Amino acid sequence: MEYDNLHTMLRLSDLLRTESRKAASAEALQLVHYDIINYIDRCNRYSDTPTALVDYLGLTKGTVSQTVSLLVKKRILQKKPDQKDLRISHLQLTEKGHQVLKNIRQTLQLTADRLYCSATYKKALDTVLKEMAWQLQEEKDKKPYGLCKTCRYNTQKTEDTYYCTLLDATLSATDTDKICREHQYST
Ligand code: SF4
Repeated sequence: MEYDNLHTMLRLSDLLRTESRKAASAEALQLVHYDIINYIDRCNRYSDTPTALVDYLGLTKGTVSQTVSLLVKKRILQKKPDQKDLRISHLQLTEKGHQVLKNIRQTLQLTADRLYCSATYKKALDTVLKEMAWQLQEEKDKKPYGLCKTCRYNTQKTEDTYYCTLLDATLSATDTDKICREHQYST
């Protein structure tokens, strides 16, 4: 990739982060709060822990711990103990959390609507952006956190039932639209 392209992407990223910050601020939240609730809403049940947040967002354990505590106090997130291992907590959005996230996304959709892209390019853009994110994560030896439906361990069983051969778990069609920390692309 040319440096000019990288520069354009960095500029676009800055502009979008600014818009996201404004949208979060309208809900009395900081950008990092939005990053966390957005991830928790999009991840699957194997990836909704504080440890996964540390990996995914590249934040310190201390920052994640403090921020999650604040979001629990604001009744935006709730913690649920793991059924098999009580040392592990799963994070979920509360009803209020879902509403707050919906409001932020509606505001951000207005920004997305201003970014015209023809239908032909939309698909190509989606593929290219995901491919680039994957390459960077791979090079940094990070978990890819990809969408379940693109994972090598995902096997379709019936029209709307899937199976994860890695975690030995049945998955619904909704599950396959979630982000997973165990995700692996086919080689
Ligand atoms: S199929 Fe892959 S992405 Fe889906 S739950 Fe299993 S490991 Fe995670």
